[in-house]
Amino acid sequence: MSSGTPAATPVTACRSCGGPAPRLFLSLGSTPIANRLVRADGLDATDPSFPLEVGFCEACTLVQLTHELPALEIFDADYPYFSSFSDMLVRHSEKHVIDLIASRNLGPDSLVVEVASNDGYLLKAFVERGIPVLGIEPTPGPAAAARAAGVPTREEFFGAELAQRLVAEGLKADVIIANNVMAHVPDLNSFVEGFRILLADDGLVDVENPGVGALLAHTEFDTVYHEHFCYFSTIAVQSLMRRHGLELVGVEEFAELHGGTLRWSMQHAAAAKPTASVDSVLGAEHDAGLATFDRYATFGDDVRAVQQDLVALLRGLRAEGRTIAAYGAAAKGATLLNSSGITTDLIDFVVDRNTHKQGRYIPGARLPILDPAALLERQPDYLLLLAWNVKKEIMAQQEEYAAHGGRFIVPVPRPVVL
Ligand SMILES: [Zn+2]
Repeated sequence: MSSGTPAATPVTACRSCGGPAPRLFLSLGSTPIANRLVRADGLDATDPSFPLEVGFCEACTLVQLTHELPALEIFDADYPYFSSFSDMLVRHSEKHVIDLIASRNLGPDSLVVEVASNDGYLLKAFVERGIPVLGIEPTPGPAAAARAAGVPTREEFFGAELAQRLVAEGLKADVIIANNVMAHVPDLNSFVEGFRILLADDGLVDVENPGVGALLAHTEFDTVYHEHFCYFSTIAVQSLMRRHGLELVGVEEFAELHGGTLRWSMQHAAAAKPTASVDSVLGAEHDAGLATFDRYATFGDDVRAVQQDLVALLRGLRAEGRTIAAYGAAAKGATLLNSSGITTDLIDFVVDRNTHKQGRYIPGARLPILDPAALLERQPDYLLLLAWNVKKEIMAQQEEYAAHGGRFIVPVPRPVVL
């Protein structure tokens, strides 16, 4: 670690229930911040790295990182992620918008609030249908992009304090949406308390996040990174929500999205009418062992097997003189590469459609990020799909690369060549 870099501190209490420190079950070593892509002029410096370890709360079952990083290490003005680049996510969001308008009878007098609204890709679909919205997005680049797209956006972190100010301004939300953000929240209880404060009496909160059940079942250890403090089961979400007077009323599963996403719907306990989906998903999670430490303890062995198999596969191909590139400069790629010890000696470059990432380098592994056009220009023999969650989309886009003999490697749940 370079001098002047703030150190990580061990978590001493559960982020949700405040119970004893989470019990460690998976160590991915010490790795750089996954989304902190390296610029060409920063290649001489060492990337600061921090422990990446995961534990289980034996009191409320919440899976969480065992070390805490200063928030500024994670969210800086350079944060390169803009959501509108994934076709699958845009389609999924459009359907969510249309379903909510119908099921909640939303109209010109309604208010939809989205927390972590990014570049406004979701709220824009409400605006186009005449429904008032408010985006909450702390990162300046995406917030500016959202405003330019006609989505009113507050550049702030969401929590109880902001919710109180919004209510004081006369706002109450008929729908609150929080997709792929709850795992990033340092103060989980303030965040959920914010829902309770801002939500109208008969309002609905929809929270989406990859589920920890799919993470375990498919060995998706690369979805662990410093920006993701918590890994949620429905069991842990129910416990968290109840602490703030909110009740789960529905759970939906989207197996294809981010490797297995769950959408939890909540209402004020007084207004809540849970559907059968809640008990059904809770029962399945208990059957899968998600409430017990034992299930998590075996996961560490699964992860080491995947890492060893992948490195052996790549080394074998290199020994045969094959060239290998990678697809997808997302955070999960950085975790996979750095926790497995894969660098430029095995993989030449990575491609990504996001123009904000091109010209930079994956932290730690230091793979250069290029335009996907490089695949046809250089025609590497193999393409490791770091963004395996959108493998169908990538393989469809890369028909020409495949037609010229290119092969695909999918790293999880076990490394395979397609
Ligand atoms: Zn807990």
